[in-house]
Amino acid sequence: MQATNDLMKKIVSLSKRLGFVYQSGEIHGGLQAAWDYGPLGVELKKNITELWWHEMVRSRGDVVGVDTAIITHTDVWRSSGHLKNFHDPLVDCKKCHSRFRADHVEGSVCPNCGGELTEPRNFGLMFKTFMGPLEDEGSIVYLRPETCQPIFAQFQNIVTSTRRSLPFGIAQTGKAFRNEITVRNFIFRSREFEQMEMEYFVHPDQMDKWYKYWVQKRLDWYTDVLGIKKENLRLRPHEEKELAHYAAGCTDIEYRFPFAGGDGYGELEGIASRTDYDLTAQMEGSGKDLKILDKETGKKITPYVIETSGGVGRTFLMVLLDAYREEEIEGKTRVVLGLSKKLAPVKAAILPLSKKLSEQAREVEDLLRPHWPVLFDVTGSIGKRYRRNDEIGTPYCITFDFDSLEDRKVTIRDRDSLEQIRIEIDRLVEVMSRLMTSDMALGDWERQE
Ligand code: ATP
Repeated sequence: MQATNDLMKKIVSLSKRLGFVYQSGEIHGGLQAAWDYGPLGVELKKNITELWWHEMVRSRGDVVGVDTAIITHTDVWRSSGHLKNFHDPLVDCKKCHSRFRADHVEGSVCPNCGGELTEPRNFGLMFKTFMGPLEDEGSIVYLRPETCQPIFAQFQNIVTSTRRSLPFGIAQTGKAFRNEITVRNFIFRSREFEQMEMEYFVHPDQMDKWYKYWVQKRLDWYTDVLGIKKENLRLRPHEEKELAHYAAGCTDIEYRFPFAGGDGYGELEGIASRTDYDLTAQMEGSGKDLKILDKETGKKITPYVIETSGGVGRTFLMVLLDAYREEEIEGKTRVVLGLSKKLAPVKAAILPLSKKLSEQAREVEDLLRPHWPVLFDVTGSIGKRYRRNDEIGTPYCITFDFDSLEDRKVTIRDRDSLEQIRIEIDRLVEVMSRLMTSDMALGDWERQE
C-alpha cells in the first residue's frame, strides 16, 4: 500500500509542477475540492471528452448530443426526486469533529481518533443559489448535480426536432456540482466536476440486450480507445440490495486506484438500466406527454432507458496513474508518461540541437503546428529536453541538427522504444500523419518503408 500511495503523491506533485492540475485559489490558501486544469491538463481533458464525444455521438447514427444549462428549472429536480432524496447520510465524531459519509465507515467508531460517532443525518448535496435580484424562497435555483436529468426534461423537444424513433440516445458532457461531505483523493471526488453521460432509449422488450451491449461497449472504450491496462479495470455488477427500487440493473466500471480502501477499486462510470422511471417522473411533474410512437404496434409507449454515466476527472486521474512509469537507463531514472498518442497533450517536440539553429528549426514547427499541438524547446541539453518531454508524455521528439542544414533531414525519436529514424523535412507531415494514426513503433515503420 505504501508503494501505491507514493505513486499518488508523485502524480499530485507532477500535476502541479508540469501544469496538469492546480488547486483552485492556491495563492489564497486554496479552495477545497475545486481544481484548475493547467496548460497541459486542459489539453488532456479536452482529448478525453473529445474521444468520448467521437465514440458516443459523432461515430454513431443513433445518438445525438445536447448542451443544457447548468442552472436548471427547479421543477426538473423536484420531478426527478433530487430535491427530496439527493442527500448522503453523514456521521460526525463527537471527539475530533471529523465528518464522514455513513456508508464510508464501519460501526460507530471514528476511524481518525477512535471517538464515538453520531447517528447518521442527511446532508443535502445540491448547491443552492438565487436567480435575479431578490434572495427569497421564490428565486431559489440549483446548480445541476448531474448532466443527465436535463436530457429527460428536453426529451420531447429533441424527439420532435430530430424525428427519432427507438432505439436512440442523447448524450451530454459538462459540469456538475455536488456539495460532497468528504472530499479527498485529489480530483477523484470534488465538489465541482465534469461528467460524460448518455441516455439510450429503447423498447421495454429490448432492455436487457441494450444493457449488456452498453456495459461491454463502455468497458472497451477504456481499454481500446484510451489504452488503459486491462488488468487494472473491472466490472462490478450491483447487488440487488444496492439497486434503486426502479432500477433493473447497474454495473460499475472500476479502476484499481492506489488510494481506495477495501479491495482498492474505485468507480469510474456506472451503466444503469433505469426502466421508464425518469421519463415518467418528468411527465408527472410537468403534465406533458413524453411518450413516443412504437412503430411496430402503432401505439404510444414510454421508452425504457439505459444510462451510461462517467466522470471526466476520475478518467483523467486514471489516465495519469496508468501511464506513469519509471525506468532505469544507464544508472539514471527516466520518468515516462506512456500516454496513448490520442491522449498526449503534445504530439511532438521540435528540438534544435543548438540555439544557433532556432531560426531554421522554426520551419519544422510551422510545418507541423497547423496539424498537431507541438512544442518548440531550445533550453537545456538535448538529454534534459528529451526527459522533460518523456515526463509530459510527448510521443515524438524531432531534433534539428547541423546536418539538417545540409541534407534537409531531421531525427525523430520514439518516446517508448527510444528508436530514432532520420527523415526528409519535406516528408515530415506525411510521416507524422501515418505515425499518429497507427500503433506502430517507429522502428517497425522504418523497416516497412
Ligand atoms: P460515488 O458513489 O463515488 O459518490 P456516484 O455513484 O454517486 O459516485 P454517479 O451519480 O453515478 O456517481 O455519477 C456518475 C459519475 O460521475 C461517477 O462514476 C464519477 O465518475 C463521477 N462523479 C460523481 N461524483 C463525483 C465527484 N464528487 N467528483 C468527481 N467525479 C464524480
